[in-house]
Amino acid sequence: MAKLETSLIHEGQEFNTSKAVVSPIYQTSTYLADADLSTYIHAATAPKYPEFYHRHGNPTSSQVAKVIANLERTDDALVLSTGMAAISTAILAVVKAGDHIIAQHAHYSGTTLFFKNFLSEYGIEVTQIDQTDNNAFTEAIRPNTKLIYVETPSNPNLDITDLAFVGALGKKHNILTMADNTFASPINQTPREFGIDIIIHSATKYLGGHSDLTAGVVCGDKDYIEKVWQRSLVLGAALSPFDSWLLLRGLKTLALRVRQINENAATLALWLDQHDLVKNVAYVGLPSHPQYELAQKQMKGTTGMLCLEIAGVDEEEAYKRAQSILSNLRVFINAASLGGVESLVVHPASMWGAHHSDSQKQTSGITKGLLRVSVGIEHVDDLIADFKQAFEKVRLTSLEEGIPSAL
Ligand SMILES: *Cc1c(COP(=O)(O)O)cnc(C)c1O
Repeated sequence: MAKLETSLIHEGQEFNTSKAVVSPIYQTSTYLADADLSTYIHAATAPKYPEFYHRHGNPTSSQVAKVIANLERTDDALVLSTGMAAISTAILAVVKAGDHIIAQHAHYSGTTLFFKNFLSEYGIEVTQIDQTDNNAFTEAIRPNTKLIYVETPSNPNLDITDLAFVGALGKKHNILTMADNTFASPINQTPREFGIDIIIHSATKYLGGHSDLTAGVVCGDKDYIEKVWQRSLVLGAALSPFDSWLLLRGLKTLALRVRQINENAATLALWLDQHDLVKNVAYVGLPSHPQYELAQKQMKGTTGMLCLEIAGVDEEEAYKRAQSILSNLRVFINAASLGGVESLVVHPASMWGAHHSDSQKQTSGITKGLLRVSVGIEHVDDLIADFKQAFEKVRLTSLEEGIPSAL
């Protein structure tokens, strides 16, 4: 099999039946049918058939799914219109009323909403546990447990789940395991190596990589992906032809982008960690990360995601400073999302204020002085200089207000 960098460029070419070097965009909802009715029946019923009707499949979607399945080392994959479409469709292909799911306290906010507010209304129970505690997974197993759902590193605080442990636990008890691999990207982590059955991405993030599309992907065995496809026909979240094409284009530079992002983030994390205004930096590449050893064991690289907790005499001061830093950063853009070429920064407590109760924020570690950073591919000197000038403004304000802090 070709190396990763090569397959990112050439995988799935068989779905491009034209002579164009770059696959065309099939901007169509439907396809001319064969006059032969038995061929037509095949086109209408075969899973992911690429040239029948858009909700069933699209040549670019087949190509892009092949590239990603190869990255995640699974037999097959299905691309959908958003990460949440991938997550909800993938889960609904596994559980039914009366079943039980084990999930983590810390998940992407939409995933938490799906578990807490949606599935419970359809008779599916979810137990949320501390992902850093392996025993908690074992203890949560019930006779009707059908799925263990993990996210590692988790959003936003970068807690790590022991993938080898969860993979083995699932195999032992015949429970499917599913991992949201968005934060790591397949360049930095491949959960299949640790026995995880199903891998999910918000392809809106690193896989697309340019903040210009939304997409999601589910990777797994052929039979399972066929089930997800069946569900997707009725749930209806097909990826648009243009977004599919953009995703294919974005993927070609995935390895290059992620390597540069890893390097930039590691340098920035070290610099931030040494600054007086920063109480703590959560970054999987720093030895101070509480699960540094585990991250080293299961990750091939780090990630561009990091969180910094701004220092202050109390939460209110930390909050005011975080706000000031956000408004003074010039290179970092204050915007939701992550994984693009441009560096972004957000205040998670504000972004998810409406979604999470105060106690939920507490268990997910979302404090008022917390900033989440997605590092891009700009020059790292400019990224550091940007934080430096924003920090300097906070220091000046503190001096003006006569706060004798240790800045
Ligand atoms: C963004 C994100 C999602 C949701 O993806 P969308 O494409 O926005 O629907 C799911 N999981 C994680 C970890 C994410 O960061």
